[in-house]
Amino acid sequence: MMFLMVGMLQGITPPPQYVCPTCGTSFSSQAELDAHIASAHPAPLGYQCPYCDETFPTLQELINHVNTGHPDQPPIQAIDIVWE
Ligand SMILES: [Zn+2]
Ligand SMILES: [Zn+2]
Repeated sequence: MMFLMVGMLQGITPPPQYVCPTCGTSFSSQAELDAHIASAHPAPLGYQCPYCDETFPTLQELINHVNTGHPDQPPIQAIDIVWE
């Protein structure tokens, strides 16, 4: 967040875009994206790992799980998430 504010003040770098992995809508902050996902794309049962039976309350936690728990598998994409 500090980096974002400095970049905007100096006008050097454009503000990073936070893109919704589900619908592609972009937001100017992580908080806005989180709020959008919570309201527009609720996941009542969480996000299920495509490689095991574990579920996670947030997409980021699932991504972290796949990256660390299934290093031999390709990184997941939003389109691969199973909604149940
Ligand atoms: Zn969305
Ligand atoms: Zn897993």
